[in-house]
Amino acid sequence: MGFKARARANDSKAGDDRKKKDVKEGKDPCGVNGCDGWADSTMGGRSLSVSDAEDMWGKSVVVRKNRVRVCKSCYRSWKKTNKQDDYY
Ligand SMILES: [Zn+2]
Repeated sequence: MGFKARARANDSKAGDDRKKKDVKEGKDPCGVNGCDGWADSTMGGRSLSVSDAEDMWGKSVVVRKNRVRVCKSCYRSWKKTNKQDDYY
């Protein structure tokens, strides 16, 4: 009858206590107009060359120091469009 002998030993108490801010804020806004992502490298942002970025988004990009900083998702869509297999 020792049915319930298997008590949950590791009842992990990792509750959602930390409710800091679920909206991540970066410092580098994405350079694609209309996108509100962040281009911080800590957040997966990347920088593209101006011509690469303009191929994809035309003139609606913000150029900084000859580069266009884009957020992760913009970079991914760019990557998709420019099917490059150089990194997996
Ligand atoms: Zn973006």
